[in-house]
Amino acid sequence: MGLEPTPDPGLQTLLRPTRSDRIAGAVALIAIGLFAISASQLMSGLITGQISRDNSSLAAGLLLNIALIIFGWRRYTDIKDEISRRAASEERAQALAARDPLTGFLNRRAVDEAASALLSHAGKRRKALAMLVLDLDCFKQVNDLHGHDTGDQLLQGLAERIADCLPPTSVRARLGGDEFALAFLFDPENPAVVESIAARMIERMAEPCSLDGLLLQTTASIGLARSDIACTNIEALMRRADIAMYAAKKQGKNRFVWFDPVMERELDSRNQIVSGMRKGIPAGEFVPYYEQQIDLATGRLHGFEALARWNHPTRGVIMPEVFIPIAEETGLIAELSLSVMRQAFEEARDWDPSLTVSVNISPGQLRDPWLAQKIVKLLTETGMPPARLEIEITETSLFENLGLAQSIIGSLKNQGIGIALDDFGTGYSSLAHLRALPFDRIKIDRSFITSINDNSDSAAIVDAITRLSESLGLPITAEGIEDARIRERLIEIGSMKGQGWHYGKPMTADQTRRMLAEQGLLNMAGAEEAAEAALEELKRLRRA
Ligand code: C2E
Ligand code: MG
Ligand code: MG
Repeated sequence: MGLEPTPDPGLQTLLRPTRSDRIAGAVALIAIGLFAISASQLMSGLITGQISRDNSSLAAGLLLNIALIIFGWRRYTDIKDEISRRAASEERAQALAARDPLTGFLNRRAVDEAASALLSHAGKRRKALAMLVLDLDCFKQVNDLHGHDTGDQLLQGLAERIADCLPPTSVRARLGGDEFALAFLFDPENPAVVESIAARMIERMAEPCSLDGLLLQTTASIGLARSDIACTNIEALMRRADIAMYAAKKQGKNRFVWFDPVMERELDSRNQIVSGMRKGIPAGEFVPYYEQQIDLATGRLHGFEALARWNHPTRGVIMPEVFIPIAEETGLIAELSLSVMRQAFEEARDWDPSLTVSVNISPGQLRDPWLAQKIVKLLTETGMPPARLEIEITETSLFENLGLAQSIIGSLKNQGIGIALDDFGTGYSSLAHLRALPFDRIKIDRSFITSINDNSDSAAIVDAITRLSESLGLPITAEGIEDARIRERLIEIGSMKGQGWHYGKPMTADQTRRMLAEQGLLNMAGAEEAAEAALEELKRLRRA
């Protein structure tokens, strides 16, 4: 059980005598006083003979006095009983409201108070408070696969294991879902104690759980923060432990990580990127740059790969390695990629119709069953022929849900869109994947190509992939051709397309248009049409 929170001040007020309580007590006291005075007067009157024995009004007064005493006393005890009943039920309700009914741990609302109480002891006893935020790594899958009842039972079992690992005086709380906050005191000279508790918890979480004939297994990530390092309030301590927990997840899950101030700075800059992306995508700050794709043997331009760049209002051009991973984590990648695609399709209308456009699709986008429809809609709206489009996907996208990927890719292929397997050689490089999906092309990852002349392993891998693709009848694109020596070596190995800095770095839309115009590859009719449309739009705006 979690540490009890200190009693609510409201409850203490309830336990104090109320006004009516005091009035009833006062009535009883006055009645007792009156009774004592009148009884003594009666007795002395009777003794001295001043009062006759059948004085009925005095007797009536005495009786009234007795009645008042009884009434006052009854009322007083009734009110006292009522107060203790109400106080007890209030206390019960408060205890229930502070608890998570599933695990018996405290709930999110109660952590702050309970942990603050523990923290106030820390100072007196020269101890520090350790805060652990624990999150299960794949609990959602248990719920999805086996249902919420099984998920609940698993949580109960795991909560018991968590409690087993903690010292007797500790705060144990379930923050919601599969997230727990745990706090206890430790000697700041010996933080290894905290680490050994966290390590034990990681170990125990990973032990299989047997439930209704099922053997379930999950792991946990734990973030650790300590109160003695410039952190004196529970809210800040929990935020730190939470940040550290996310770092543990990022480092590969199933581990514990101490909070480090660098993490907070990273989080702040990440949050800035996220809010910048939310504003920047609709504002058109994300634009495609175009990298040439060349037929190595003939040197002929075959098309372009569209690569996203962020024209940031204050920071200049930002590269995709900064924002694509964050866009993928936050789900913004879908909106970003579609926006970049739309701009690329609109640009490509003016290019020679023989030129293709390759666009990248992230793993998260292949989880969207409507992806194919969204791309086809974009093609229709921009008037881009599907045969000029090639979609690049990586193997990791296929691993997650091969069935859905197969159906999306099938729909795209039915429209005449080409599909390329990007970064081949870095992932599973699985023959099964190559056979399960109707790819039109393999792109060899640039890490092998850039090092082909310096590393015999890279050369052997490129050679093997080329032989494999020949036998499967799949054309190849080599990415990362940085100089003429690499190009020569590749031409020796086999026939393929290629891209890389030797041919040119990714260019803006304007630079691309200029290059195409010089090579006579700009569709002048289309360009004139676009210029006319722009002129018409300008006139319309002026009139308005
Ligand atoms: P990718 O699809 O493998 O793209 C090729 C990357 O290699 C590009 O980096 C390109 O600029 C770089 N590159 C090309 N030639 C050379 C070379 O000779 N040497 C070296 N060292 N690098 C070269 P970039 O533009 O930074 O893109 C990185 C990754 O970001 C892309 O890898 C792609 O996975 C992703 N990405 C870019 N734009 C988008 C987009 O619009 N949507 C999605 N989903 N992903 C995108
Ligand atoms: Mg690519
Ligand atoms: Mg690539």
